[in-house]
Amino acid sequence: MRFERSSHSITFNEANQPNKLSTMKTMTCKQLGGACNKEFHAASFEEMAELSKKHGMEMFQAGDEEHLRAMNEMQDLMKSPDSMREWFDNKRKEFNELPGQ
Ligand SMILES: [Zn+2]
Repeated sequence: MRFERSSHSITFNEANQPNKLSTMKTMTCKQLGGACNKEFHAASFEEMAELSKKHGMEMFQAGDEEHLRAMNEMQDLMKSPDSMREWFDNKRKEFNELPGQ
């Protein structure tokens, strides 16, 4: 899978990714900056981030207070491209270090 979003502020460093995209990994909403223990299963970090985002939007629409608070914090983080990139790098590293299933 290739992500070509050159206009996007976040550049995914694919060079550091192991080439085993068939391995599913698990991360929780909380691990991804959310507020609950819902588990996401994905083979790539980008996919994981997408699932987390989708879940976040659902919780946002449901008006879940915990998630709204977590989202506000994320939005603060996103004001700075540097801290945003740092956050993504850390989470990707966390993802890559997870044992496969
Ligand atoms: Zn959640």
